[in-house]
Amino acid sequence: MDVIQCLRAMVGQDGVLDASQVSTRSAGVLRPDRLTAQALVRPKSTEEVSAVMRWCNANGMRVVTQGGLTGLVHGADAAPGDIILSLERMRAIENIDSQQRTATVEAGVVLQALQEAVEAHQLVFPLDLGARGSATLGGNAATNAGGNRVIRYGMMREMVLGLEAVLADGSIVSSMSPLIKNNTGYDLKQLFIGSEGTLGVITRLVLRLREKPLSNNVAFAAAPSFDAIAKLLRHIDRSLGGTLSAFEVMWQSFYKLVTTAPAKGRPPISQDYPYYILIECLGTDRELDTKRFGAALESALEQGLIVDAAVSRSDADCSAFWSLRDDVAQVMRDGVPVVFDVSLPVAEMERFVDTLRDALPNEIGDHKLWVFGHLGDGNLHVIVQVKPPDYGAARPKIEALVYGALKPFRGSVSAEHGIGLEKKPWLSISRSETELAVMRTLKGALDPKGLLNPGKIF
Ligand code: ZN
Repeated sequence: MDVIQCLRAMVGQDGVLDASQVSTRSAGVLRPDRLTAQALVRPKSTEEVSAVMRWCNANGMRVVTQGGLTGLVHGADAAPGDIILSLERMRAIENIDSQQRTATVEAGVVLQALQEAVEAHQLVFPLDLGARGSATLGGNAATNAGGNRVIRYGMMREMVLGLEAVLADGSIVSSMSPLIKNNTGYDLKQLFIGSEGTLGVITRLVLRLREKPLSNNVAFAAAPSFDAIAKLLRHIDRSLGGTLSAFEVMWQSFYKLVTTAPAKGRPPISQDYPYYILIECLGTDRELDTKRFGAALESALEQGLIVDAAVSRSDADCSAFWSLRDDVAQVMRDGVPVVFDVSLPVAEMERFVDTLRDALPNEIGDHKLWVFGHLGDGNLHVIVQVKPPDYGAARPKIEALVYGALKPFRGSVSAEHGIGLEKKPWLSISRSETELAVMRTLKGALDPKGLLNPGKIF
């Protein structure tokens, strides 16, 4: 049996790349290695995905679905014998319904393409993250992506109204309802969201759109203590009447990193404070919102919750503030980063970070530690950088330290990046044996041969 020929019979000559062609492609963002697989198949429709899956299932072929390859946990890695199923030829935005406020898309559509397409309708698709230019909506759904505005709009899970998926045996489960309220039994779409390609291949989505905000205010503030930040979050949320859309915190070392050359950014306020907060308010009335935003900050200053702040005066200022937060690539400079996306109660965050800061020098010696993240969502990004020759030996020690420090706080080992291969050994910190058993039951029911994204999550 010639695998390439069989697949080409289903999706056409140019729909399949053989192993040598596959190996010319990068394995993904921040990855030095190349893809490996027996073949990469690029179906053009749900029906073609179904045909491919039916054939792979009948022939015991393992299938790894890939989107924009912007994941950070080796969640879409394939082995030399696997078939990669790429959604790159399913990039149609089928419909934007401005009355129902929904978009119907194929799973290969790039996030930014949808963001731009809905603008003309005075609507917004509110999911936003650094990889917007290459991450696909199917991948966003399969990994339940989070990003910068979760505090206001929730994660991908909250933005999907309908979903179509192809199961391991090729059957098509179409739940493409555009309804916001739909209590008709099990919510099947939620099963596939965040399942990292292990339960089915997401092929199409109905996404919920929101009214486009008409005003945008951003401030970069400094807090004197961590305790003040926790109080500031409540103060700001209360003062802004539902318009708070981001509350991003940076520990001092990260702020210095992204505001000092060779980084392009410059500090909007002094680098001498222990904590920095990017606060964003998306509203409906430029004048009123700006006034209310200013008053909320003023009152925070009076109460000692912040000690300094730079406030945007234009859209260019807003972008400049955000570009500091988005310049995460700086952590790649001069060393190899180990990246974490943990979540834990806000009240425990300072103790958690202090524990790490104290323990790291003894365990791994010379290193850099940066902490920042979506504090409003209880989600921190911890990044530890070590020099290349030490990386291999240091990595397991760093992981043991970070996850060990998280355990007493009942934190999550992944707030938004997922489990993939990278966090499999640590999943039991966040999930009980019973929970894992239910997950395995679902996997066995939907993919009894274990062919879909094998070895990922558990
Ligand atoms: Zn994040």
